[in-house]
Amino acid sequence: MFNALVVDKDEDGKTHAGVRQLELEDLPGAEVTVAVEYSTVNYKDGLCIGPGGGLVRHYPHVPGIDFAGTVEDSSDARYRPGDKVVLTGWRVGEAHWGGYAQKARVRADWLVPLPEGLDTRQAMAVGTAGLTSMLSVMALEDHGLAPGHGPVLVTGAAGGVGSVAVALLASLGHEVAAVTGRPEQGPYLRDLGASRIVAREELTEVTRKPLESEMWAGCIDAVAGAMLGRVLKQVKYGGSVAAVGLAGGAAIEGALITPFILRGVNLLGIDSVMQPFANRLRAWERIARDLPLDKLEAMVQPATLSDLPQLGADILKGQVKGRVVVDVN
Ligand code: NDP
Repeated sequence: MFNALVVDKDEDGKTHAGVRQLELEDLPGAEVTVAVEYSTVNYKDGLCIGPGGGLVRHYPHVPGIDFAGTVEDSSDARYRPGDKVVLTGWRVGEAHWGGYAQKARVRADWLVPLPEGLDTRQAMAVGTAGLTSMLSVMALEDHGLAPGHGPVLVTGAAGGVGSVAVALLASLGHEVAAVTGRPEQGPYLRDLGASRIVAREELTEVTRKPLESEMWAGCIDAVAGAMLGRVLKQVKYGGSVAAVGLAGGAAIEGALITPFILRGVNLLGIDSVMQPFANRLRAWERIARDLPLDKLEAMVQPATLSDLPQLGADILKGQVKGRVVVDVN
C-alpha cells in the first residue's frame, strides 16, 4: 500500500481531492515503476487538483505533472532499479496518473536520468516551471541574445517560471528587470538577481500605439494578455520574446504587426510538455550547470501531500511564491 492524492468526481460533476491509500495493482500499465521522492506544484497542477480545466480525462485521478525519484522496477533496458530519474510533461498528471503519490508507473520514453549535480529534491525545486525557464533562455540565446545586449524582462516574476528565469538570467550575466503585481516580493526578486522591479500596472494598459521606446533586449513572458501586447512594442531591434504562459489571459491584447516588420522582433513559442528527449537532456544539464543552487533553495516552499488541495487553489489565484517542493513520503 502507498499514499496518493486522489481526485474524484461526484455525480454533480464536482471534484474532491484527498490523500488515500492505493495498491501497486491500481497503477496504470507501463515499463517503469518509480518510488517517488518529491513532486511540485505548477499552474496546471492547480487545475488538475481542482476542476480539471479540461485536462483530466478519467476519474479517479492522481495529479502531479512532475516527479523525481528512484527506479524500483523496469522492463526497459535504459533503466535499472536504483537509477535516479526525473519526469516532467508528456501529459503525465493530466491524461496519465502523475507524481502526487509514493509510487508512479510511466513509460521509459518519458523519463530523464537525473543530471549530475542535482538531487531529487532540487530537481523538483526546478520542475516543469524551471525546465521551461531554461528552454526559454536557450531559445533566446539561439536567437542571438547575449549578456551586454541590455535588460531582459521577466513577467510573472514572483511565480515559478518567473523566479527561476530571474535567477538563471542573472547568473548568466544578464541585467534582469522583473515585472510583478506583488510589490512586497521586490526584495525576494532582487535577491534572485533582478536589478530592476517593474510594477505590473505599468504594462497592463492596452494601447494602440504601433511602437514604444526600445527597452528590452529580450523577454521571458509567463503572462500574455495586455502585457505581452505592450512588451512586444518595447523590445529592442532584433530582440526576442519567449512566450511561455497565459497567467494574464490567453490572447495577446493590443498586439500589432509593427514590432515584427519594423524592428524584426521575434515571438518564440515555448512548450515543455512534448519537448524531444535530446533537448530536455540539454536543458537539464544546463540547469545543473547554470542555476545557482543557493538561489534555487531561496525559492523553495516545502509541502506534503495533504497540503496540495490548498496549494492548488492558491496557485490558480497567483498566490504561490517561487517553487513548492512536495515531499510525498
Ligand atoms: P505561477 O502561478 O507560479 O506564476 C504566475 C505568475 O504570473 C504569478 O505569480 C504572478 O506573478 C503573475 N500573474 C498571475 N496572474 C496575473 C495576471 N492576471 N496578470 C498579470 N500577471 C499575473 O505559475 P507558473 O510560473 O507555474 O506558470 C506561469 C504560466 O506559464 C502559466 O500560465 C502556466 O500555465 C505556464 N506554463 C507553461 C509551460 C509551457 O510548457 N509553455 C510550462 C510551465 C508553465 P507576480 O505576482 O510576480 O505578478
